[in-house]
Amino acid sequence: MCGITGIYSHKPVAAELYDSIIHLQHRGQDAAGIMTYDDRMHKEKGMGLAKEVFNEINMELLTGSIGISHNRYPTHGGFSHGEVQPFWTSVPYGIALAHNGNLTNYQDLAEEITNKDSRYLNTNSDSEVLLHYFADLLHTNNPPEDSEEFFYLLCNAVTKIFKHVKGAYSVVSLVIGKGLVVFRDPQGIRPLVKGERPNGNGGKDYIFASENTMFYALGYEPKGTVLPGELIYVDETGNVFNKRLIKKSFNPCIFEYVYFARPDATLNDVSVYRSRLRMGQNLAEAWKNKYPNKIPDIVIPAPSTANTSALSFAHELGVRYSEGLYKNTFIGRTFIMPGQAERKKSVKYKLVPQETEIRDKKVMIMDDSIVRGNTSREIVRMLKDFGAREVYFAVACPPIKSPCFYGVDMPTKNELIAGNMTEDEIQEYLNVDAILYQKIDDLVEAVTRKGDHHIDTPCMACLDGNYVANDIDEAKINEIETMRVNDRNGK
Ligand code: SF4
Repeated sequence: MCGITGIYSHKPVAAELYDSIIHLQHRGQDAAGIMTYDDRMHKEKGMGLAKEVFNEINMELLTGSIGISHNRYPTHGGFSHGEVQPFWTSVPYGIALAHNGNLTNYQDLAEEITNKDSRYLNTNSDSEVLLHYFADLLHTNNPPEDSEEFFYLLCNAVTKIFKHVKGAYSVVSLVIGKGLVVFRDPQGIRPLVKGERPNGNGGKDYIFASENTMFYALGYEPKGTVLPGELIYVDETGNVFNKRLIKKSFNPCIFEYVYFARPDATLNDVSVYRSRLRMGQNLAEAWKNKYPNKIPDIVIPAPSTANTSALSFAHELGVRYSEGLYKNTFIGRTFIMPGQAERKKSVKYKLVPQETEIRDKKVMIMDDSIVRGNTSREIVRMLKDFGAREVYFAVACPPIKSPCFYGVDMPTKNELIAGNMTEDEIQEYLNVDAILYQKIDDLVEAVTRKGDHHIDTPCMACLDGNYVANDIDEAKINEIETMRVNDRNGK
């Protein structure tokens, strides 16, 4: 998972890109980067949080009113400085690109680019491959002069990308002397929203981002979603060209609603907050049906993503919602940190149980999802240490059984608890008195119940094993899992 932003503005853009990275920090804390251009490309990037990467001195170097930014959360490639996006190339034009997603035919594309096109790849990043593939498709002996001709060239290039590049990809790109280019894979697996604001001179500024979380702060009005298979080009004078180049079914990631997106975001024209409330409602109904005699005294969310669904869950059950686990927000999200050892170490530092809310009570803990199971198990142990009489566990997401190959860090099947255990075994492993996972149909209903959206079927490959881009078989699973393990081990 990553966060991307592209802005076309009438004024210097660097500060707004920095703010965008801050507002998308939850989508990636591993690294951050900004590229802008005026008469030249300017880039600053580094490892860590935005506030660790950028300062007054390097921000001043980022001149220009068109730019892109990236929050990194690695799902492909290693963890080095060289992997930090945006990437750029000087042939043709000068093109920079930032990408959220995961290319499933990375290996084939990398071979094509290096062997056939004689391009050099400096990293294992699929974004670098996508940049060079895009750049090659824009190479022509008669470079177009005007914006309409350039858009025509872009349409041909991105159509070829849509046909040959498999997996999930939302992209923001700069082409020096030409403007800002944005496109989203034909099934719209990863999110990409858009907004605009008046520039005070009769024209408009435009923003494209993984979430609309920064729109209000920066004065942009949300204008919905970039459509799956859509290309948008904003030229240097603010003319906008767009075309939906290819139409397939719209399959956005359902896990964005469960866990990843910030609750105030609206993705694919569905409010994340509202969808989480509905997840809690649906799960409470199911709990009452399955366990009519196991009604808790109190519902405690595993903070913070589960807060919203726990609120409606408690309401539907008619019991008290309690913030019985205090979260130290300065530790970071454990799911996002590379390496199992760090995850294990951080749970106790991150969460502190409040004894007055727990002792002698039947406690329902609600979490958004269970990926590896370590955090959930430690939470249950904490509650028992602090005197809970019984502990129940409700999960807003159905069991995660398969790895994600479309840009979320669920690396290998072996690491997924529900990929290897039945629900009864998980109940025993967590040491809880009752457990209930959301049903897949109830989750889909919660996400799609309301809103003027055009979702056909959300991607749920990690839940039902149906990889929506039709690009994954056993051999591919082995290939990608091996690559991930090697990346992680620095091979
Ligand atoms: Fe999202 Fe799961 Fe699909 Fe990955 S496999 S894109 S996490 S729904």
